[in-house]
Amino acid sequence: MSLIVQKFGGTSLADAEKIHRAARRAIRSKLGGQRVVIVVSAMGKTTDQLIALSAAISSDPPKRELDMLLATGEQVSIALMAMAIHAAGHEAISLTGAQLGLVTDSMHTRARIQRISRDRLDRELDAGKIVIVAGFQGIDSSGELTTLGRGASDTTAAALAATLGAEICEINTDVDGVYTADPRRVPLARKIDEISYDEMLELAAAGAGVMHSRAIEFGKKYNVPIHVRNSLTDEKGTMVMAETPGMEAVSVRGVTLREGVAAISLSGVPSKSGVAAKIFRAVAERDVLVDDIVQSIYDNRRLAHVAFVVAAEDAEETGAVCRTIAADLGIERVEVEADVSKLSVVGVGMRSHSGIAAKMFDALAAKGINIQNISTSEIVLSCVVRSKDGLAALQALHAAFDLDKPPTTHEV
Ligand code: ASP
Ligand code: MG
Repeated sequence: MSLIVQKFGGTSLADAEKIHRAARRAIRSKLGGQRVVIVVSAMGKTTDQLIALSAAISSDPPKRELDMLLATGEQVSIALMAMAIHAAGHEAISLTGAQLGLVTDSMHTRARIQRISRDRLDRELDAGKIVIVAGFQGIDSSGELTTLGRGASDTTAAALAATLGAEICEINTDVDGVYTADPRRVPLARKIDEISYDEMLELAAAGAGVMHSRAIEFGKKYNVPIHVRNSLTDEKGTMVMAETPGMEAVSVRGVTLREGVAAISLSGVPSKSGVAAKIFRAVAERDVLVDDIVQSIYDNRRLAHVAFVVAAEDAEETGAVCRTIAADLGIERVEVEADVSKLSVVGVGMRSHSGIAAKMFDALAAKGINIQNISTSEIVLSCVVRSKDGLAALQALHAAFDLDKPPTTHEV
């Protein structure tokens, strides 16, 4: 018998009516002959409210106690969902991460899953029940409760789907699927029918907030297709799946805009062994995450430019660290531009289509938008622009790559 994992996010469980609706979706799958495992998030904005509550008590609560608090949100949801299924005349049982045997490491508030026991799950499924699992939580090897990081109910669902060899992992959410761009910013954005795991990972990393990245990684590693769909409709959403040969026919699958970043550039950097190591060691010691490092040398290999991107809130601190290092190492100039955005175009088709970069830069030039850092990887092309140009740039790229039209009519 095939097995489906159905995850419902907080907005899909925001009130009693929505919980009943989610229950009906699960029951339909069960009546269709599938074994059904449901994973739930906390209702509505519960997790945010719990965090606010903890902040009202202490500015620095012990992480263990934060986990004790946050895990309650999902426990409410599993019990209510089980009640809704019972009320509709079907058998269901709710399980916390601990009851299920979802074992994590001991990093409170950002634990990683180590193993999932099948025993209890199999027993309940064999008894014909719909099993409802609390997302986002687990237990470490000494029995302490842990949580997996914000948004990680998706990851619980994908990990369960992988463990159980599910046919599909369904992510029921408040949007119709994954879009070619954020539809709130680009009105002509279209829902993507099929996207590869790698493209989805890149879109998530570049700022598309549809799914938790680790969930996509689980899907990819165990080859579980993930169906991102709207919990309120019966429409097909987006299938996140292994790459098919046809996927390369489209050069660009989607475009993203990540706002709130800062560009740091160092010029007149002595081009000597160990200099880059010293710069980035100093930045790393402040726990600042660095992205898109670009270096180039000039002046007969005597000097280098080094540029990179950090989150805007880290701009000042990073600038200060770099200025200190600059004085030590004889670096001529440090510039910090706090008001920039990062644009990315993503697609596996980039491997086989030429001219994507030219097309991207042409589209920006046509709008008079100046490009700062440029970086590329196998299936991503990114550039940094001034924040005030971000939205126009995003829309220009969406149009340039014909993302407002069905994929079959794309051309490069
Ligand atoms: N309730 C948790 C959060 O809000 C986990 C989740 O929703 O995925 O982050
Ligand atoms: Mg979520």
